[in-house]
Amino acid sequence: MASKFKGGCLCGSIRYEGSADPAMAGNCHCRDCQKSTGGAMASVLAAPAGTIKITGKPKYFAVKGESGKSVQRGFCADCGSPLFSKVEAIPDMLFVKAGTLDDPTYFKPAFDIFTSSAQPWDHMNPALPKFPKMPG
Ligand SMILES: [Zn+2]
Ligand SMILES: [Zn+2]
Repeated sequence: MASKFKGGCLCGSIRYEGSADPAMAGNCHCRDCQKSTGGAMASVLAAPAGTIKITGKPKYFAVKGESGKSVQRGFCADCGSPLFSKVEAIPDMLFVKAGTLDDPTYFKPAFDIFTSSAQPWDHMNPALPKFPKMPG
């Protein structure tokens, strides 16, 4: 299958390639995403887990999300780049951090979530729909 998007971590030991168009793309401003990215938000796209081929071995760190379900955050154990999230509440999707794309312009965010914990120095695109927590 032809790849739609690909990327990897900073040191290159973990690479991924997605063969399906993303089912969703947006920015999460929750505190866990701020901590794990070291930035104002996590910009992520999600695609069916089976359509993303990963080479290398990400290390996963699990935390309980606000829903009480677990979120596993995958990163490169060598360089520390955050790459993936597996969300127990949405088990068939793999979330990919947009900043790790080889071509980050591919990422077209459609919403902002957890804006209730967004930082005052986080300037969001006013044109995107905003959700104070997780929608729905
Ligand atoms: Zn790495
Ligand atoms: Zn988040």
